[in-house]
Amino acid sequence: MIVVMSPSATKENLDNVVKKIESLNLRTHLSTGDERTIVGVIGDKKIIANLEMEMMDGVEKTVRITEKYKLVSREFDPANSVIDVDGVKIGGNEIVVMAGPCAVESAEQLHETAKVVSACGAKILRGGAFKPRTSPYDFQGLGEEGLKLLRQTADEFGMKVVTEIVESGDIELVESYADILQVGARNMQNFQMLKALGKCKKPVMLKRGLSATIAEWLNAAEYILSGGNEKVIFCERGIRTYETYTRNTLDLSAVAAIKNLSHLPIIVDPSHGTGRRSMVAPMAKAAIAAGADGLMIEVHPHPEVALSDGNQSLTPADFQALMNDLNAITAAVGKKI
Ligand code: PEP
Ligand code: MN
Repeated sequence: MIVVMSPSATKENLDNVVKKIESLNLRTHLSTGDERTIVGVIGDKKIIANLEMEMMDGVEKTVRITEKYKLVSREFDPANSVIDVDGVKIGGNEIVVMAGPCAVESAEQLHETAKVVSACGAKILRGGAFKPRTSPYDFQGLGEEGLKLLRQTADEFGMKVVTEIVESGDIELVESYADILQVGARNMQNFQMLKALGKCKKPVMLKRGLSATIAEWLNAAEYILSGGNEKVIFCERGIRTYETYTRNTLDLSAVAAIKNLSHLPIIVDPSHGTGRRSMVAPMAKAAIAAGADGLMIEVHPHPEVALSDGNQSLTPADFQALMNDLNAITAAVGKKI
């Protein structure tokens, strides 16, 4: 349930509401907007069902949230959440582009990539240091060495870092180098890790699971928010269907669905979503037209020798062309890039 305070409610009214809820062994979650404060009530469903708050001073109304996911829901917070990544805002009026190689391979490869993507307008450098590969014989990533390269290179070009975390034990390590922790598709329902990320201070980018429904994805995010970390960004990266022409089926309807169901931002990864270089730009443009808050794009200076995902990586020239084309689409949807 949420308790919506009226715009004229006083601090004392709010304190009394919180006191009453907490006296019943329920937890509260405050969301302070420009106009009004919303109090989320979390805890035993039976107690919440009998909770009467409408009569209290300063309360405008109460809304019962029927879905299992509550803190992530649009009902809980009608305004779009803007996630501040050390000064780069995701979910506002500006489209944020994350770009870089699938995996960090070497200092030269990362430097060459960061140089072009930052010059084209990408604000966040991506690159895997811990790679969850389908085969144990494939390149597994450089580990901490990769994290160091990401941090140094991003700093050199004034960028932020997003990189994947594959196990809870690595949170402290990854957090010490990265600005956004990426939960990959294969770990979307690693609930222990989601709980641990709830205690983390840095924003989390939650990719959609390989075969996850929208509701499962929202519930995965709820794990992180209910643990105390409200800075979650969804990333649609395609789902498995019967189609084999593409690596995955990019579900752009998920953008519209998430925008309806949640206040959190959503970005789109057309690289993993299609698996084909030639389809990345068209789908990136469609994603922005559909209302996505940003993009994650794989770029490699020499895709033909990439240690992973060369087939879907854009060349620097492809990326430059895409960024140019995005200007018009971004303007058409009333945003900036
Ligand atoms: C990635 O972004 O490098 C990655 C492994 O993506 P996904 O988890 O979507 O497969
Ligand atoms: Mn990849």
